[in-house]
Amino acid sequence: MPSPQVITIDGPAASGKSSIARLVAARLGGIYVNTGNMYRAMTWAVLEKGADPADADAVRASAAEVVLESPVYEGRTQVCVNGQLLGDAELNSDPVNRAVSLVARVPEVRRRLVAEQRALAALGLLVMEGRDIGSVVFPESPAKFYIDASEEVRAARRRAQGHQDQVAERDRLDSTRTTSPLVIPDGAMVIDNSHLTLDQAVQAVLDKLPA
Ligand code: C5P
Repeated sequence: MPSPQVITIDGPAASGKSSIARLVAARLGGIYVNTGNMYRAMTWAVLEKGADPADADAVRASAAEVVLESPVYEGRTQVCVNGQLLGDAELNSDPVNRAVSLVARVPEVRRRLVAEQRALAALGLLVMEGRDIGSVVFPESPAKFYIDASEEVRAARRRAQGHQDQVAERDRLDSTRTTSPLVIPDGAMVIDNSHLTLDQAVQAVLDKLPA
């Protein structure tokens, strides 16, 4: 089997997949791509324009005007909206946490970001994490992972990160939306990260990579 060019890592909110994906990318010399940040950036831009995130037509119209770029810096993609580099303060703000799953369920937003994500494969080996990477963005990848953790552990993780986040509500919206809901991708290797250390979880992914 050829070496994978994209390692896909999906899972629910706060399952630990971002930390795992970042370290797997560092260990393999690949580029880490956090696609949640792309949806968060789009959400931030939509909110800046004053659009109601629950109004799909308003989201579609304001998202169409957004210029989104993903420059690579220190082994990971960043998100730039209309020329402005966004950081944790914008991407993880409470308004963005509350609105992101509403924006992410709009099919035109997804089509656009999926195309951007596929284009990143030209950069070389990617470790890309999100909700639909193994199921929709790169379904042909031979290295697909699904990271899970119990709801209690996930809620505690978000609190420890200092975020007031309704992970259960985001998971409900992400799992029940019509376009690209969160699923375990066909052929994905499932890792339960409820009781693993970060090192153990990273090793579990590395151990299961196709040779
Ligand atoms: O990964 P993170 O929790 O930061 O993602 C924020 C939100 O972005 C998710 O709750 C989901 O609504 C959306 N998302 C998505 N598809 C992806 C990545 C994130 O719909 N591939």
